[in-house]
Order: sequence, then C-alpha cells, then structure tokens
Amino acid sequence: MKKLLCLLLLLTLTGCQGDGHKHVYKEADYKNPATCTVCGQTTGERLLAYFESHGIEPAMKKLNQEYDYRTGLYDEDGIFHACKGTLTVLSDEVSDQNPFATALSTDGTYEIRTVEMKMVMADANSNDYGFDYHYLLTSYNDPDGLAASFHYSEEKGANTFSVLHDGRLWNDCRMLVTVTNDEWQQAEPFWQKTVTLRWQLAIPQGYDGLLVGLRSAEIKEGQALDYTDTPNFVLYRVGGNA
Ligand SMILES: [Zn+2]
Repeated sequence: MKKLLCLLLLLTLTGCQGDGHKHVYKEADYKNPATCTVCGQTTGERLLAYFESHGIEPAMKKLNQEYDYRTGLYDEDGIFHACKGTLTVLSDEVSDQNPFATALSTDGTYEIRTVEMKMVMADANSNDYGFDYHYLLTSYNDPDGLAASFHYSEEKGANTFSVLHDGRLWNDCRMLVTVTNDEWQQAEPFWQKTVTLRWQLAIPQGYDGLLVGLRSAEIKEGQALDYTDTPNFVLYRVGGNA
C-alpha cells in the first residue's frame, strides 16, 4: 500500500510540474476555455455566444434556398406599406484576392470571405409604393462588441472591426459591401426587382462568428436584435456552410 501511495504521489507531482513549465494561458474565447499554450491544459469555461444564450438561430442555413423577407416603405404620412419577397444566399467562399486598398495585417492569418445574397421583390405593394431595405453585419458571439469596434478607417479605405478568436483580439478585420440594383423587370402578375448584395470580409482564417443579412425597414437601427423573428430579420452565418 505504501508503495502505491508513493507511486500516486509521484504521478500527481508529475502531472503538476512535468516539464517544469508554468502554464501560460491564452484567453478563453467562444470555442475554447483559457488554454495553456505549452501543454494545452484548460481552465474555466468557453464564452457563451449571444445568439446561443438568447436561443436565436440565423434563419438562412443553406445556400441557393429561398427564405422569406419582409420589408416595405414608409410613405409621407408615416404609413408603412409592407411587402414580401425572398432572400437567397448564392455563395459563401474564400477568395485569394485582397479587394481592400491596403495589405492586411500579418499579425495572424486573415482570409477574404465573400458572401453573395440575392433579394427578389415582386408583389402588389412593392409595385405600388416601392420598398426600402437595410443590410447589416452583426456578430453571433457578441453583437455589442462588434458594434463598438466597428468604424470606418481612412487609412484602410474600408470599414474595420475587431473579433475575439483563438484567445485574442484580431483588430484588422474589414468589410466592403457592394449593392447592385437591377431595373424592375416586367413579369406576371407583378413586376420584379432584384437586388444583389455582396459582402467582402477580411476575417481570421476559419472564423465563423459573423452574421450578414437584412432587416425590415420597419425596424429601427439598434433594435434589430429585438426582432429576431423572420421574415423581418433574416440572417446568414458567414462560413456556416464551410
Ligand atoms: Zn501548461
């Protein structure tokens, strides 16, 4: 018995001090708890994503599938004329071309991810009144944190923001949005308008914490997360199909 105790004690000591290193923890993030960079030992819990803790799921889960989208237009008298159309994510891909005016930071491996989304409107109200729409970028993990860091950088010629990934902040994330408005096309029973939105994002390689999509023109900015019901608020998780 004494021998066994000694052996256990020895093992315990080995477990603690092994190669004699002092644990060097990188911060917890939304994937992993605080993790020692030397031996991989973890401590505590990973962070809980905002969407997870609020039980919200982005509506658009698949590429090339139509999802309902509701928006509309306020007329001069403040009356909202709602209309309903569809959104389709056409592609979500990593590209090897940097669309930004300046080189990306080399403090980590960033990738360029491009998401293309198509909006089609063809109903009575959109034909009679027209429509307004609002596209957005938000965070699955931390919408407020993303909003707080989001700003236009003159130097980079693009919107820039920070995300927590792999235990640290990545401060050179960037976004460009290109919107293509087609002319109204004659169709039956209603004329049809197609709008194509393209988000080009510089994000840490493999990062999947961003959401892009549209909210109804009836929802005020900053209140979008109070309206997580589709079709008024329709989101897609970037890299969600990767
Ligand atoms: Zn360690």
